[in-house]
Amino acid sequence: MAHQFKKRFGQNFLRDENLLKKIVSTAQIKNQHVIEIGPGEGGLTKYLVKEAATIKAYEIDESLKHTLEELESTNPNLEVIFKDFLSVENFDSKDTNIIGNIPYNITSPILFKVLDIEHITSATFMVQKEFAERLSAQPNSKAYNALSVMIQLSFDVTYAFTVTKKVFYPIPKVDSAVITLKRTGSQNKDLHAFIKDCFQQKRKTLLNNLFETRAINKSQTASFLEELGYSSQVRAEQIIQKDFIKLYSKTLT
Ligand code: SAH
Repeated sequence: MAHQFKKRFGQNFLRDENLLKKIVSTAQIKNQHVIEIGPGEGGLTKYLVKEAATIKAYEIDESLKHTLEELESTNPNLEVIFKDFLSVENFDSKDTNIIGNIPYNITSPILFKVLDIEHITSATFMVQKEFAERLSAQPNSKAYNALSVMIQLSFDVTYAFTVTKKVFYPIPKVDSAVITLKRTGSQNKDLHAFIKDCFQQKRKTLLNNLFETRAINKSQTASFLEELGYSSQVRAEQIIQKDFIKLYSKTLT
């Protein structure tokens, strides 16, 4: 029976074989451990099994069981787990790559989860084009926000390529892009909360945002900003990624 697409699970499948191969080669996962989020009918998975050492694929939709179990039975390096990826708590502690043509409505929670799992060393995701631009955005651009900073402090982000919406079934409303993330470090949750506070209200200065969210000492923070080469009227979107760490440490003292 043909698969009934489920909008609530963000199902937009890929069937363009060249594109599927291109995504897998972009991920550079030869002989490595891989987690796949949302294998669907196995479009990407069937290429991943040829390259990776092991694949753990998390799929929420049990109606795909038949198709995925067939793929599993012929590929001993594949394990399909029917579970909501966001609810998974125990991951193996070996270095792992993560990959997925992921549901658009849960892209942010997936990224926050990946951010916290330190042995995820690289990620290759298909996301909405605007979202890919945000993740790779640099200071002084419209797309640069708290998420851009948080991700870029832990990963080197590359906007790999744009993917037209026409290659998905069913066709979504917007175009997509593939991004790759290579881990360069990891940051603690307190720093992430601080970065969110810096961006609290876009129109306000950084000083005012921090004063309102954390009651910082304004004149002390203003002179520290000047030491870093910024005006005291600077907005968060003008601050370079690494300076958020310096500012954070300063507000702790
Ligand atoms: N990888 C396939 C399917 C992509 S569509 C392809 O490229 O063709 C997104 C997939 O993610 C769907 O199969 C959907 O059922 C699954 N999915 C949605 N929410 C999920 C979640 N929370 N955890 C795991 N899988 C999920």
